[in-house]
Amino acid sequence: MLKSLTLLLVAASVTIVSAQTPRRAPAARNRTITNIVREIDARNIEASIRKLVSFGTRNTLSEQNDPNRGFGAARDWLYAEFLKAAEASNGRMTVEKQSYEQQKAQRVPQPTIITNVVATLKGTQPESTDRIYVVSGHYDSMCNTPTDAKCDAPGANDDASGTAAVLEMARVMAKYEFDATIVFMAVAGEEQSLLGSTHFAEQAKQKSWNVDAMFTNDIIGNTLGGNGVRDRGTVRVFSEGVPTNETPAEANTRRSVGGENDSASRQLARFIKETGDVFVPQLKVTLVYRRDRYGRGGDHIPFLERGYPAVRFTETNEDFRHQHQNIRVENGVQFGDLPEFVDFAYVANVARVNAASLAAIALAPSRPKGVTILAQRLSHDTDLKWDANKEPDLAGYEIVWRETTAATWTNSKAVGNVTTFSMKGMSKDNYFFGVRAIDRAGNRSPVTYPRPQTRTQTTTNTSTQ
Ligand SMILES: [Zn+2]
Repeated sequence: MLKSLTLLLVAASVTIVSAQTPRRAPAARNRTITNIVREIDARNIEASIRKLVSFGTRNTLSEQNDPNRGFGAARDWLYAEFLKAAEASNGRMTVEKQSYEQQKAQRVPQPTIITNVVATLKGTQPESTDRIYVVSGHYDSMCNTPTDAKCDAPGANDDASGTAAVLEMARVMAKYEFDATIVFMAVAGEEQSLLGSTHFAEQAKQKSWNVDAMFTNDIIGNTLGGNGVRDRGTVRVFSEGVPTNETPAEANTRRSVGGENDSASRQLARFIKETGDVFVPQLKVTLVYRRDRYGRGGDHIPFLERGYPAVRFTETNEDFRHQHQNIRVENGVQFGDLPEFVDFAYVANVARVNAASLAAIALAPSRPKGVTILAQRLSHDTDLKWDANKEPDLAGYEIVWRETTAATWTNSKAVGNVTTFSMKGMSKDNYFFGVRAIDRAGNRSPVTYPRPQTRTQTTTNTSTQ
């Protein structure tokens, strides 16, 4: 009896604390997201990876019209699988082959048709349907040489793992409704220099699509690193701090008020970590504060270059003997990207973190726009201001903050459905602040980091010394 009373008291105090912290209380868990996480099945992912491997090679320069071997066979199989997934969507998911002719380039010896397979699940809230979230894996593969179209290039981990995860997400999520639109995409030409993702991102820019976030999944299936470390419990999420497309004026502002750790992509990574911690506790998200692995790149970069927030998921410990290698045994060591080195249950967990985050972000209102901090006034308060969201189910906003040295948001305060708020007695010199939107079901948007208000209508003089 005493024990249960203590538990009750503990539970009560936890609830009170959670009202002050960004982490959601378990009671606020969204049932749609819980169901999606449960339905993602490692067996489907394994079957997809083995099927993709069965095409022998998926090099972008390999056969386009052979039904059994090469790039074209993989493309057509993926298209058919996404179409199957779309059947559960009541017509809300459409599938297309997005093709273009790539001219000769460094890793493209002759003009080549590049085809992305793109499944779009249309959002159901009129105010949010033009807000787009993209999740991708690349289905092309390579062995030692990117232009070798003949060698066997199973690409089980790089990147059948990411492709299979995206296909499984589409299969599970197609029957659920989201306010915003989700694009599930298998891209080509990654190993030829990010060609397929560049094409999609450029199309998005030219058509002024509102791509609010992009996740790429690339190499998400190896749990025994070349360093000998076995780790099935963590995944890396890479995000840039300083935006790739930052203008000189924005750089000046950043130097003046801080923010090198607060790009929209970094807020996205924090959102993924928060969501993953709640819905997929068996897989810890490790935030890596750089755009990609050291000096390397992936399909998120063309999006970053065009100003779209984007992150990369990759396993924690890679084994380079099983990436971009001709299949061979050397001194008793097996080289090659073979399915026997992929941990399918782990891929499923990475897919769950992706799916939970995508669902959470697409159910939530848009992250607030036009967020500013009144910059010039010498004050012990912090005055924030933002534009009103347009969603009809909006409940209001939360101010979040942290010490300037903290990695993630540590505190939050619900401020109601307002567009200005003053944090009394909390100096903008001493904390980082942000604003996020919340709907009536408790879905929270990612955080928007404020810009300093440019107007100099201030009550105090503007001396900064
Ligand atoms: Zn890759």
